[in-house]
Order: sequence, then C-alpha cells, then structure tokens
Amino acid sequence: MDVTFEQVLHETLGGIDFEPAALKEKYLFERDKRLREDANDQYVQVAGDFSNYVDDPYAAPADRDPVDDHVDVVVIGGGFGGLLMGGRLKENGFDDVRVIEKGGDFGGTWYWNRYPGAMCDVESYCYLPMLEELGYIPKHKYSFAPEIMEHSKNIARHFGLYDNALLSTSVTALRWDDDASVWTIETDRGDSMTARVVAMANGPLNRPKLPGIPGIDSFAGHTFHTSRWDYDYTGGDSSGNLTGLADKRVGIVGTGATAVQCVPHLGEWAEELFVFQRTPSSIDVRNNHETPKDFADSLEPGWQYRRMENFNVLVTGGRQDEDLVNDGWTDIFRNLTGIAAKTASQKLGRRLTPAEKAELMEMADYKKMEAVRARAQQIVDDPNVAESLKPYYRQFCKRPCFHDEYLPTFNRPNVHLVDTDGKGLDAITETGVIANGEHIELDCLIFATGFEVGTSYHRRAGYDVVGRNGVTLSEKWADGLRTLHGLQTADFPNCFFLGFTQGAVTVNVPQTLNEQAVHATHILSEVRDRGASVVECTPDGETAWVDEMQSKARLGRRFRAECTPGYYNNEGKTGNPNGFFSGSYGAGPVRFFEILDEWRSAGDLEGCEIR
Ligand code: NDP
Repeated sequence: MDVTFEQVLHETLGGIDFEPAALKEKYLFERDKRLREDANDQYVQVAGDFSNYVDDPYAAPADRDPVDDHVDVVVIGGGFGGLLMGGRLKENGFDDVRVIEKGGDFGGTWYWNRYPGAMCDVESYCYLPMLEELGYIPKHKYSFAPEIMEHSKNIARHFGLYDNALLSTSVTALRWDDDASVWTIETDRGDSMTARVVAMANGPLNRPKLPGIPGIDSFAGHTFHTSRWDYDYTGGDSSGNLTGLADKRVGIVGTGATAVQCVPHLGEWAEELFVFQRTPSSIDVRNNHETPKDFADSLEPGWQYRRMENFNVLVTGGRQDEDLVNDGWTDIFRNLTGIAAKTASQKLGRRLTPAEKAELMEMADYKKMEAVRARAQQIVDDPNVAESLKPYYRQFCKRPCFHDEYLPTFNRPNVHLVDTDGKGLDAITETGVIANGEHIELDCLIFATGFEVGTSYHRRAGYDVVGRNGVTLSEKWADGLRTLHGLQTADFPNCFFLGFTQGAVTVNVPQTLNEQAVHATHILSEVRDRGASVVECTPDGETAWVDEMQSKARLGRRFRAECTPGYYNNEGKTGNPNGFFSGSYGAGPVRFFEILDEWRSAGDLEGCEIR
C-alpha cells in the first residue's frame, strides 16, 4: 500500500503531540505584541553622552608618536577577519601589512566580550581559525573566551602582525587618492598614512547598542555594557568569582546569547539579581567537555578544513555521510532543513511538493520548539517562571542558544525573572528601573542589549569611506549594498570588505572570513603576478552579483516576516536594505564558496579591472 504524506509526516516527527494551529496563532500573537514602528530606532547610539559605554576598560592606550608613512596593505580590525586577512597575506609574500585595531590587542569580539561565562557555542575545532597552521588543539569542545583571545594573539604572533600594528587606534578617515593610487588613512591618534590596499574587517556586530528607555542617562548607580565588563567593580574574571557583587542588587537588561552566558555567574554572586526579559531565548543542551586525550591522534593534514566543510554542509541542509561535530547545531539543522525533507521524500517515494515541504519544516519546527519549552518546564521549579522562559517563535527567528546552567539559575532564591511580556523596561530612574509599573532599586545595571545591526555600514564602522571622485560609501550604499562577491565595490579601488556585505552568513563565522581572506589574497597575488598594482571591480561585475543576490533573496523573507522581532529580521522591518540577512547570499554558504572557488579557477578575474 502506498504511504501518504500525512503518514510520512507523523513518522518523521515521531508523532504530533501539539496543536499546530494554536501554536501558529500564539507565535503571531507574540510577534504582534512586540512589533514597534520605531524598529531599529528604538536603540540609542553609543556616542556623545553615552560614549563612555564604549571606552576600553581592558587597556590604556600605549604612549606613541603619530605615524606618518606608507605601507602596502592596511587591514582595519584585528579580530578573526583581520587576523585571517593578515595571515593569508603574509603566507603569500605580502610582508608590508599593518593592522589597525580599536582595542588594545588582537581578538576582536573576543577582546571586547570578556563577561563572566563568555564562551563560544560553535565547536572549537571548527571555530578557532588556523588550528593546523599553529599546531594547536583547543582544550574543550566549546572554548571559553580567554583561550580564544589567547589563540588570536598567537595567530598575530605567528604571522608577525604585532610588528607594524597600531593598537588602541580607531580609523577616522579613509580616502582614495586617484592621482597617487593610494588610500590616505587618518586615525584618532593623529596618524596620517597612505596604503596601496585597504581591507576592512570591522566585524558585523562590533558596535554596542543601548535601548532608548526613558531616563537611560539618569541612573546614578553603576552601569556598563556586557562587551565592556567592569571587573574593577564586580571583582573576579570571566570564569566567575564576582565577589564585588556580594552586597549588590544587580539588574541585567536583555536575555540574548550574551545574557544567557553571564546570568549564571551573576546569579551565583550577586546579593539579588533581577533579569529583565523582553523575549526569552531558546535554550538547548550544550554538553561541553574536555578535548579527549586521543583527539589529535586521529587527525590527518587538512582535518580542520574538512571538519569545517562537513559542519557547513550539514548546517546548510546538505547531506554528509557522517556528522563530525554532532551537536545541537547539526541536530537542529538535520531536523529543520532539507535533510529532513529528503528523508521524507525517500519514504514517500517521490519529491515533496513545495507546500508539503513547507508543512514538514513548520511541523518539525513546532516539535523542536516544544522540546525546548518542555526543557524549561522541566528544569525551572516555579511553573510561572518556567512559562515566562518559554520561547514562542520558530527556531531561527532568533539565534539559538545552548547552555546548561542558565535555566537552573532561576531556581536560586536571589534570582528574579522580571518578564515584561514583550514590552521591555518602562523607564530608568536615578536609583533603579521601572518594569511592569513597579520600581526596583538597583546598585548596578548591566546592559546585555547586543550590538548594532541594520544600521548603515559607515555608522557601524565609525567612519565613511571616500572613493574615486569623492563618492562616499554611505551615498553609494544608501539604497542597499552593491558589491562583487561582497568583497569589492566599483569606484573603491584596492579596497576589500570582509564580513556580511553580500557574502554568506555561516553558523561558523570564521569560515566565511577565511574564504574571504583567501579570495582577496588571491586577487592581490594575481594583480602582483600580472605586474599591476590596482584592482577594482567593474560596474558590470558589480551589477551581475547584485542581480544574483536579488534572484536568491526571496528565500526566507516570508519566514522572517512571521518572526518575533530581533536583529535577525531587522526588528520586524524585513525590507531594510542594511539588514543582517539582506547582505547574505540566499543560495547559502556552500554554493557561495563554490562560486568563489570557480571564479578563482577560471583565472580571468571576471568583473575586475587591473592596471
Ligand atoms: P542580542 O541582540 O541577541 O540580545 C539583546 C537582548 O536585549 C535581547 O534579549 C533583547 O530583547 C534585549 N533588549 C533590547 N532592548 C530591550 C529593552 N528595551 N528592554 C528589555 N530588553 C531589551 O545581543 P547579545 O549580546 O545577547 O548577542 C548578540 C550576538 O552575539 C548573538 O546573537 C550571537 O550571534 C553573538 N554571540 C555568540 C555567542 C557564541 O557563543 N558564539 C555568545 C554570545 C553572543 P528582544 O529579544 O525582545 O529584542
């Protein structure tokens, strides 16, 4: 007897023990009550009166004279993007490289984010760049922040990137001089230099944001953003031991991936902790462990790239014979993407129709999120608190979190979840906050409110870029990004962008950064080998890629429109041309990396002009 789609659906899901229609209604209800007209404008820029929120608490700028010289390549940013770019350039014989970095050291996001409990929930053997180049094996399956920071420094040492670096230095102006064919670069330390090439690796989430809550500037207690943790005040370090909070009433605003990691430590050490929640995160199992002693024995040359590839294919919905990482990420994607659809179609003996595929994905999503909600119910003692901690939206509406200590923290008597039912704080006062109409006195208020996404590129970078004939990047990209492969844009010669500017968003972000660094270095090597010094993408090359981006952009738009707001869907304004996924190639990273590879192999630098 032929099996029906309904039977296959039940079998694939292992039964349907929930009410899909009721859940759909609940999801839309939860979304609607959070949608706000001001979207991204609800946040205030950390500038002017708020600029103390971005001061570097970790290092005083070293005394040095301003630099006034010429270098071959300036890399802006010393995080993973800058390290990979600098490293790949050095490997390929570009010796005159200077990294300019705002922080007091290399590390980027791992330099800034040192909050207690900071760690990476993407597997370390994939996530930490250049493990084979450095001969390093991470200590745990999921690395803690200090190890990642140390590894960043080791990459910089390995490639000699400290030699010429300008740390604690922010670029303030970047202008192309067409007569001399160089970039002129100015910084906040009075430097004025020229460079043949610039590579921008500013990071996608580098600028902390604050909520525009009435009275935000009036709090007289202690306050800081999680990416500038004040250990002088709290005591301890990123492993905890926050003894300075023993007699403090602490509030934390936000319950995203950052808060999920630091709340357990705050709960352990603060006299009282108030967690102000607008939307709960999805908290799945993390299950960290030390790297097995024999892990390295089984590894053959090229192992890290193969592992990254394996992970990338699986978390993009593709098939692999084995799952090398085998964790929460690959599990989610196995169940919620094309892999599940392929399995179902095999059972059915035919391809699923688009409607059947969509139904399967939606039902699998409900099933998964029911399990996440059941986990909260099971771990948290107070049923009302447990209910408040349950996320009612589809899994990829917000970044999934993986943590084993966050939910149990709400069983501590000194920890109070203040669920604002999607509204956020009402106001901040001199002595505390008002939430749900009630004033709560606080000694310390911590903002775990994330980073600017969806604002213009130049605002996030902190400077505009002036290309040929005075054209600025902000003007050029006012209606949306225009690039060739996300890396170059016409009228901005010898300029490369690393990050999410029309490339591909991957779960394992450093893999994208590596592919971009390899690609940019390849282009520069070709330019050198052909006896040229300048490369620029042509308007035609740019248009072809913009068209390709647009032809794939429809994927996921409806999905995101139904999501509860957050930075993944531009706070509900899915049409924002600067949005997180607007710069992401809709056909996914596997295809994107193939396109780059095919382009390099073709050897004709299509869409680029060199001179
Ligand atoms: P997010 O942007 O994810 O979270 C910000 C939080 O602040 C949300 O819970 C948001 O609520 C809340 N918020 C904003 N405004 C208000 C308000 N007015 N009142 C109350 N709450 C408010 O920032 P994170 O720093 O947590 O994470 C940023 C990203 O960094 C992650 O998405 C992830 O990509 C990365 N990260 C990665 C980690 C890793 O392990 N690899 C670890 C930590 C971070 P709402 O949801 O309602 O908007």
